[in-house]
Amino acid sequence: MSLIAAPILRERGQREVFCGLTSIVWLHRKMPDAFFLVVGSRTCAHLLQSAAGVMIFAEPRFGTCILEEGDLAGLKDANEELDREVARLLARRPDIRQLFLVGSCPSEVIKLDLAKAAERLDGSNPDVRVLNYSGSGIETTFTEGEDACLAAMVPGLERTERRQLLVAGALPDAVEDEMRRLLGGLGIEPVVLPGGRAGAHPAVGPGTAFALAQPFLAETHDALVRRGARHLPAPFPFGEEGTTLWLRAVAEAFGVDEALFDAVTAAPRARARRAVAQAAEALRGRRVFLFPDSQLEIPLGRFLVRECGMEAVEIASPYVHRGIHGPDLDLIPEGPVLAEGQDVDAQLARARGARADLTVCGLGLANPLEAEGLTTKWAIELVFSPVHFYEQAGDLAGLFSRPLRRRAALRGLHPNVRLEAAE
Ligand code: SF4
Repeated sequence: MSLIAAPILRERGQREVFCGLTSIVWLHRKMPDAFFLVVGSRTCAHLLQSAAGVMIFAEPRFGTCILEEGDLAGLKDANEELDREVARLLARRPDIRQLFLVGSCPSEVIKLDLAKAAERLDGSNPDVRVLNYSGSGIETTFTEGEDACLAAMVPGLERTERRQLLVAGALPDAVEDEMRRLLGGLGIEPVVLPGGRAGAHPAVGPGTAFALAQPFLAETHDALVRRGARHLPAPFPFGEEGTTLWLRAVAEAFGVDEALFDAVTAAPRARARRAVAQAAEALRGRRVFLFPDSQLEIPLGRFLVRECGMEAVEIASPYVHRGIHGPDLDLIPEGPVLAEGQDVDAQLARARGARADLTVCGLGLANPLEAEGLTTKWAIELVFSPVHFYEQAGDLAGLFSRPLRRRAALRGLHPNVRLEAAE
C-alpha cells in the first residue's frame, strides 16, 4: 500500500516558517524588468534585506513602501501615499515594466485593498503592468509567495488555441536550460511561466497542457485550469526516478515515441543514478524526519526513501494537495506519518521522540535541535539550490548527506559509521 491512501494528520497550531515575501529573492531573477514593491513595515524591509543581503550591492529590484504608525492607525490615506511612492519610483526607474505590489501582514491588518490599487495604477501607467499579490505571513508560507505571484499573472496572459506545453515554476537558469534540452530532444518546445520580461510571458488556452516544476503551485494550478489548460499530473523532477516520470508524463501527453524517449533519457538517467548512488552512501538505512516548511517535502521524501534508501519517520508539508502531490505519494511505501500544517510543539515532541538520523526543518528550529544532538538540514537551502532534473540529482542527495558527514567528521568518525552505534 502506498501513502496516497494513508490518513493525514492535520495540524492547525503555531507554525515556524518564513513568510511569502522571501520568494521575491528568487523571483526577481526570473523577471529582469520587474520590481517588487512590498507594502509593509520596517520588519518586512529587514527580512528582505537580510534574506537577500547581496542585492543591496546590485541595482535594487525590490523595495518596501513603509507603513508608518499613522497609516496603521488609519490616520492617513495610505492609498494616496502609495500612489505617490509608485509615481516617484517609476519616474526614477523607467526600466521597470512589471510592478508587483506585494501585500504584507501590516497592509492586511489595515485592510489596504492592493487589488484595487494595482488596478488603478495599471490604468494610469500604460507602459507598466501593475499586479498585486500577498506575501503576508498571516496567509502564506515562504514558497506560497511564488504561487501567489504566478497565479496573479495568469488572468492577464494572452489567449491561444495552440497545442503547447507550458511549464510553471521559477527554475534557476542552468536547470531551465537542462529542462529545455531534454524536452527539445523529445521534439517539444515548452513555454515557461514566468517567461522573463513583460511581453515574454506565455499565452494559455484550451490547447495548453501544463506541467508544474514546483510542488507549491496550487493556486497557479487552479488559475491555469480556469483558463482552460489541462494539468499533467506527475511526480516532481527530483532525482532520476522523479525526472524520468515527469518527462514521461509529458512525453505520453504529446505522443512521443518510446524509442525516442529512451534514446534521449538513457545517458542522463545512467549518470544521475551513478551520482545519486555515490552521494547517498551515507544516507542508506538512516531515518529522516521532515518538518513542514518548503512544500517540497513530499517529493523529497519520495526521493530520499526510494532513491537514497532512507526510512522516513514523518513527512510533513504545509499543504497536501492530492491532485498535485498524489503521484509522489503513490510511490512512497506505507510507514511514515503524513502530516499537513503544523502544531510546532506537538511536532517537536514527535521529532525528539523519534531522534531521526536527519531532521529537515526551518532555520528557527535547526539550531535548538542541533544543540540537543540531532543532525539537521535547513529546508530553505533546498529552495535556493539547483535541485531539479538529472544533472542535479547527485547534488540533491549530497545536500542531505553533507550534514551527516559534517557531524561524523566533527567526531572524527568515518561518515558512513552510524553515530548512535559509535556513542
Ligand atoms: S509580511 Fe508579516 S511575517 Fe513577513 S516580514 Fe512582514 S510582518 Fe513579518
